[in-house]
Amino acid sequence: MPFSLITGATYGTGITAIKLTALGRPQLLLQLSEVIMRARNYMTEIVGGEGNVLSHHLKHEDLEAKFAKIQDKESLRKFLKQVTYDKQGVLHLFPWSGIIDDNQELSTTFRVPDLKSGRMIRLITQLSTKEEEMFKNMIRRVNTIVKAAQDMDVRIMVDAEQTYFQPAITRITLEFMRKYNKEKAIVFNTYQCYLRNALSEVTTDLEQAKRQNFFFGAKLVRGAYLEQERARAAAMGYPDPTNPDFDATTDMYHGTLTECLKRIKAFKEKGEDKKIAIMVASHNEDTVRFAIEKMKEFGIEPSDKVICFGQLLAMCDYITFPLGQSGYSAYKYIPYGPVNEVLPYLSRRAHENKGVLKKIKKEKRLLFKEIVRRLATGQIWYTPKGSYVPV
Ligand SMILES: Cc1cc2nc3c(=O)[nH]c(=O)nc-3n(C[C@H](O)[C@H](O)[C@H](O)COP(=O)(O)OP(=O)(O)OC[C@H]3O[C@@H](n4cnc5c(N)ncnc54)[C@H](O)[C@@H]3O)c2cc1C
Repeated sequence: MPFSLITGATYGTGITAIKLTALGRPQLLLQLSEVIMRARNYMTEIVGGEGNVLSHHLKHEDLEAKFAKIQDKESLRKFLKQVTYDKQGVLHLFPWSGIIDDNQELSTTFRVPDLKSGRMIRLITQLSTKEEEMFKNMIRRVNTIVKAAQDMDVRIMVDAEQTYFQPAITRITLEFMRKYNKEKAIVFNTYQCYLRNALSEVTTDLEQAKRQNFFFGAKLVRGAYLEQERARAAAMGYPDPTNPDFDATTDMYHGTLTECLKRIKAFKEKGEDKKIAIMVASHNEDTVRFAIEKMKEFGIEPSDKVICFGQLLAMCDYITFPLGQSGYSAYKYIPYGPVNEVLPYLSRRAHENKGVLKKIKKEKRLLFKEIVRRLATGQIWYTPKGSYVPV
């Protein structure tokens, strides 16, 4: 949806969603995702043991000692020069910001000393000049969109896609968050709670935002590619990345949302409002109810404007409208574009969201009931009144 349509209609609360796979060659996102996973494994090998990035506290001299056997001292020196530590002493082997830097090449960013062979190796297959350029073009497109969004005071939500693209999508989005979310949450990431690692990913990213002092924006969804993820894992023989059943996904969703709300409360108590902004994107009534209950429990008001709700256009208006009428920020996701381009997208969404289509039955039943009620009470042109203010 063009920003110009959103900005005027929403008084600075508008949101546009984008899919990164539509902005460049998906193959490059796949390659970057693989290299991110390899970089994580490499980090574990160097630092030792399991655990997430927050437990990486290796000192510079210990790191140098580990690499004593590396023959190419000049390349090793360059590698060690790019290693950084943040305020908490957490080690960063890779300059991730380089991913969105025009002057950096992916192939050089991921050249590392290999403990086993004593040589410098590439974690990413050498990209051709054309591929490097294509990747940069994709980043430039995202940058143009985010910059325009910032100028027009519209927020950007980056959709989550299949797990083989997701590490790259999340990493790129976080780097854009770091660049643009300095005064408010402009860029939002999406987390799929059907994934077993959803809570740990969200927690790690929340911590990064806190340590590096940027605003964190996230949309929480259950996830749209369940069957595809399971079929791919079975076909390629790796562990299923999704939760074993629906209840486990719901627990993950509610647990992840609770973690975010706890942190929002902690920020609120310190007087640092809006450091975290969350969209509860779900058609599940229990989840919406859960979110409202938890907001009450943590003392988070709808007027704090840090929690909003989202449903797809033409789906579950019986959830969106009462939310809006009760003063909560409620959004409809509207696919926008030429009909011939949007139809295939819609049919894919309809297929992926078969469960949601069942809810349309309930919607039709409720609409029918309301028509009958209006006819019976003579309220044909009745307009419900609520306390919704779009600011
Ligand atoms: C505003 C909005 C934005 C969205 N953006 C994205 C996005 O960026 N990326 C994306 O992937 N999806 C996105 N979705 C779709 C979303 O991920 C869900 O597919 C859809 O909303 C259905 O989940 P639910 O919570 O609404 O409803 P429910 O019907 O309660 O939940 C259905 C979901 O539960 C999960 N589930 C069902 N059965 C099982 C099982 N056996 N084991 C484990 N989990 C199970 C699946 O995720 C399934 O989609 C978006 C949805 C909305 C409303």
